[in-house]
Amino acid sequence: MKAGAMEMSEVVTEVGHGTAVRFGLSAGETIRIETPDGSQGGDFSFPGFDQGLTRNKLGWKRFGRPWLVYSAETGDSLFDVDGEATFEVTSMAGEGVADIMYPGCWDEVYPDRRQGCQDLISAALGIERRELQGMLSFFIGFAADEVAYRGLAGVDLQPGDHLEFLALRDVDCAVSACPDTGIPGWRPGSLRVVVISPGRTGSGEPGA
Ligand SMILES: [Zn+2]
Repeated sequence: MKAGAMEMSEVVTEVGHGTAVRFGLSAGETIRIETPDGSQGGDFSFPGFDQGLTRNKLGWKRFGRPWLVYSAETGDSLFDVDGEATFEVTSMAGEGVADIMYPGCWDEVYPDRRQGCQDLISAALGIERRELQGMLSFFIGFAADEVAYRGLAGVDLQPGDHLEFLALRDVDCAVSACPDTGIPGWRPGSLRVVVISPGRTGSGEPGA
């Protein structure tokens, strides 16, 4: 690198269909989840993630009322069970939303008892499934009315659709590529996950 230049490192991991990977982040690092080919979504979680509390806190932020929102948007935080903002959504692209309604799938929802996102993510994080507090499901299409939140009803994903989360403290998290093959608009594929470490000022060594 050039002396005095900003150095930014990126570590790329492929998360294959029906698997999950854990990422240990330091405060200030960003995790970017991308579908290279517009194929499929999955879930994101971290120990203690409280999606119900997040719905409420984001509703207060957006409306000044005790209302609940369905999804997180750019500029929103994800809160843990203590109400601490743990991640901030810093970038999103594509039609799918960052759903904070669904609990993620689990083995009992599949006739063949394959591992669902809850199973995959809890295993990746090294915690019991029952300890998973919440999930954020990404690349989700939905509609809602006075009867129901109607999710997973189809979405038009494009290559390069992505979302990014900035870690606000040192935290573990995990990303799954959902094993479900029946969601309209999804097909089995891999996710590209990039951990981006922020730039730091160079040492000033010539030619370093
Ligand atoms: Zn799933």
